[in-house]
Amino acid sequence: MKRIGVLTSGGDAPGMNSAVRAVVRTAIYHGLEVVGIERGYAGLINGEMRLMNLSSVGDIVHRGGTVLRTARSEAFRTPQGRAQAADNLRKMEVDALVVIGGDGSFRGATLLANEHGIKVIGIPGTIDNDIPCTDYTIGFDTCVNTVLDAINKIRDTATSHERTFIIEVMGRRAGYIALQAGLAGGAESILIPEVPFSLEDVVQKLLRGHARGKLHSIILVAEGAGSALDIGKYIEEKTGFDTRVTILGHIQRGGAPSAFDRVLAARMGAKAVELLLAGESKKMVGIVSEQIKDFDIEWALQQKKEIDLEVYKLANILSI
Ligand code: ATP
Repeated sequence: MKRIGVLTSGGDAPGMNSAVRAVVRTAIYHGLEVVGIERGYAGLINGEMRLMNLSSVGDIVHRGGTVLRTARSEAFRTPQGRAQAADNLRKMEVDALVVIGGDGSFRGATLLANEHGIKVIGIPGTIDNDIPCTDYTIGFDTCVNTVLDAINKIRDTATSHERTFIIEVMGRRAGYIALQAGLAGGAESILIPEVPFSLEDVVQKLLRGHARGKLHSIILVAEGAGSALDIGKYIEEKTGFDTRVTILGHIQRGGAPSAFDRVLAARMGAKAVELLLAGESKKMVGIVSEQIKDFDIEWALQQKKEIDLEVYKLANILSI
């Protein structure tokens, strides 16, 4: 193996640049060449690739987003698309690929390995933290801190106006962002897709809080748990409290990566290259109890990541 490729795929996440930097520099350190593929699998199919050097990844460790850019590609879901992608890799003499992205990106990488013998290693990069076999994904910590910052600001205005705020955060299938930021931010209720909830209970909690003199309330809703607008309407009708809805949206994806995400990305990027040097393929990198580990990617994709119900319970106890 002389030359490896690296791409970012799926939704962007802060810290992806730190991971790209770690892959490029670790590979060069070990005498490998690195080809950077732009716009994920879409760019791979279109042949958007360039040889990278040490300075290609200079001055990016602190930047959000991904300098390689990212995309979703319908064509890559087809065997023809993947054949074209494999052809382009062969033309560039690339026989191994590091994919930084979410579970969809890992599924695509697995097919590329199975169908065309390209060696692949996956690095979990997504703000959602919804990938099994890793305690954290790159971007999650930064995202939680962004949401927390928003909660703090909204709390100021919520208190001043004695309002109830419903804050919708990302997480269509998973409530990690809502749970972590909600606990850190002292939200009164946290609504996530993993745990059934009753809006009537939320209303009763708000009324109890009001009766003991609470001036404001914050309810965090993961987008997969329901529409914040509908929830806000229901709560206002039932409580009569002045209620506002804030949908944080794409602000959650941006911003400089936290120290945690940069260190995580550096460790995972280096590990991915080490795995390739050891002749491994179809592995994903994860962090488990502070240790960087690797897992069979197909096996990992069959595992289910469970939200920590103890943390959910704790958030409820503390917001009683
Ligand atoms: P995020 O969690 O941020 O959404 P993701 O990697 O899960 O990231 P997806 O949009 O699911 O994001 O996948 C990214 C790309 O990977 C897709 O656009 C597609 O090109 C490829 N991909 C996803 N699933 C498959 C699959 N089952 N087969 C082949 N390719 C896939």
